[in-house]
Amino acid sequence: MITIEKIRTRAERVRVHFLGVRGSTPAPGKEFLRYGGHTSCLALSHDDEASPTLLLDAGTGIRRCSALMDGRAFEGTIVLSHLHWDHLHGLPFFTGGDREDARVDVVIPDQQDDLTPEATLARGMSPPHFPISPQELRGKWTFASLDAGTTSLERFDVTALEIPHKGGRTFGYRVSDAHSTLTYMPDHCPTILGPGPDGWGEYHRDALELARGADVLVHDAFLVAEELAGEGFFGHAAAEYAVELARRGDVGRCVLFHHKPDRTDDALDEVLARFGDVPHVTPATESLVLQL
Ligand SMILES: [Zn+2]
Ligand SMILES: [Zn+2]
Repeated sequence: MITIEKIRTRAERVRVHFLGVRGSTPAPGKEFLRYGGHTSCLALSHDDEASPTLLLDAGTGIRRCSALMDGRAFEGTIVLSHLHWDHLHGLPFFTGGDREDARVDVVIPDQQDDLTPEATLARGMSPPHFPISPQELRGKWTFASLDAGTTSLERFDVTALEIPHKGGRTFGYRVSDAHSTLTYMPDHCPTILGPGPDGWGEYHRDALELARGADVLVHDAFLVAEELAGEGFFGHAAAEYAVELARRGDVGRCVLFHHKPDRTDDALDEVLARFGDVPHVTPATESLVLQL
């Protein structure tokens, strides 16, 4: 006998559109066409929904989300991993959300200070830094903060855990529906906790807990191993760490993400070639769509 739960589980799948895959700053130009130049943004949809309802980060890639919605207004939640520019700068340019009939709930890591989430965002998004403040976006926008733990957002269970990065509180997220799990750790600096067993940083408890058994791990691959010594202070991980974390966490697929902005298509091909014999390592590109 097939239970209703099984039918529901089979029917509910998740689509993940990679809308922006760069770190730090957009990377336009012909050398960046295959992997793409927009900064971090993922769009998640339940398969029974026409449009994405959960966005992870609001880098410039969020501008591409409007095209997925076929003229409809966004009705959903944007979860930010942290507040660095490359994860936030697309927010006021999200035309699917900045319209009178939209509903946009923005969730940020709790900053453990006295400011409201809206006031925190307005520090970077208000005159003289930007023409408007968050409350001037059109439609019904709300702003909330999140602490570590699990909460339900847009029919996804979203688990947040703090992970080391540089400058500001940063969360990694584990997003699950009844069927599948995606782990999102776009900016992660495990070397802050020590060199770990292979010099690429500690495989610490929270990283392993977020990654464990996930279908997909989307992870910071800003650096490669030999760059850690000179550039590790920027607050990022090496691609080698991401692949090894996925192996230790028994992850189905490791997606290398948050590419360095000056890493051209050819240079990224060379990074990927390092893992040619490792199954289930995938580079994030702006054309990548995963069905989980
Ligand atoms: Zn970043
Ligand atoms: Zn960052």
